[in-house]
Amino acid sequence: NREWHLLSRPVGWPKPEDFALVEAPVPTAREGQVLVRNKYLSVDPYMRGRMSDAKSYIAPFELGKAMQGGAVGEVVESNAEGIAVGDHVLHFLGWREYAAVDARHAVKVDPAAAPLSAYLGVLGMTGLTAYAGLLRTASFKEGDAVFVSGAAGAVGSQVGQIAKLKGASRVIGSAGSDEKVKLLVDEYGFDAAFNYKNGPVAEQLREAAPDGIDVYFDNVGGDHLEAAIGSLNEGGRIAVCGMISVYNNTQPAPGPKNLARLIQTRGRIEGFLVGDHYDLQPQFVQEVGPWVASGALKYRETVVEGIENNLEAFLGVLRGDNVGKMVVKL
Ligand code: NDP
Repeated sequence: NREWHLLSRPVGWPKPEDFALVEAPVPTAREGQVLVRNKYLSVDPYMRGRMSDAKSYIAPFELGKAMQGGAVGEVVESNAEGIAVGDHVLHFLGWREYAAVDARHAVKVDPAAAPLSAYLGVLGMTGLTAYAGLLRTASFKEGDAVFVSGAAGAVGSQVGQIAKLKGASRVIGSAGSDEKVKLLVDEYGFDAAFNYKNGPVAEQLREAAPDGIDVYFDNVGGDHLEAAIGSLNEGGRIAVCGMISVYNNTQPAPGPKNLARLIQTRGRIEGFLVGDHYDLQPQFVQEVGPWVASGALKYRETVVEGIENNLEAFLGVLRGDNVGKMVVKL
């Protein structure tokens, strides 16, 4: 049983020396627990935050211990009622091959209903993030023009497509390569998209959304947020989901210089955490599940193989190596 430990808290970009892949005994399932052989591990931008010990909504990873994260696996031993050997479960003890999981923290998933990796992405945490952030936090309504950054990623690609499916007047996305931009328009049906590395975001956004935007779903922060405020229409709403452009900063990033525009526009900017919106999970699965099954909502995954590549996969998400949800297959 191999597991990834955090050895030291990264300063700036995480370095391989901050981590170690450690050989550990296979844990035993105690009363009320199941032993899970993990099949897919999630790597997510928020994990960067848990590597630091700054106060946050979730405790930092402990040094010298296995890190945690979303995972799906097969139950190989059960000491809990309601979960049998052979069942597949979603749980939170990723970054390792085997996990002893409290049954109350394990959610059974059906490998016949969807590929196992989908429970980490399009039908899982990132999918719900897109759904809740767009519909609840940003109060999306039919006819809105929506701009989403990180648009070729797990959350962003789903935000744009849900907005389209629910009658957005225009959906604009930004991403970090020309191939990703092409994918947004050709495969996901965005009305316009641009590569933020090709020129100033504000200019490119104005060109892509000449009539302004009603909703901005922020995955990036920085220039993107400032540009979105600049293009915001009256009554516009900004849902702050993530700010990946600043996660490795060692100094606080400067804020948007044009916040006063929120007065003119009566604009609203609001952060949210998916963890507060699990009451929407049944509605999310009911509405989005059929879109995924029918192909009306498309998704991609970037699959990295092997526990030994778990760290590289995580770093790859921060670099933008992924298209859609990044997962590690064991
Ligand atoms: P993604 O699949 O979108 O992967 C992250 C992407 O961020 C990369 O592919 C890369 O794409 C892009 N990126 C990296 N650095 C920069 C940069 N400096 N500027 C612009 N883009 C950058 O990850 P997720 O879908 O899992 O997460 C997206 C965002 O949502 C993150 O900010 C994350 O923290 C946040 N999040 C928030 C949650 C919440 O509850 N609030 C829950 C889940 C996620 P590219 O090639 O385009 O640069």
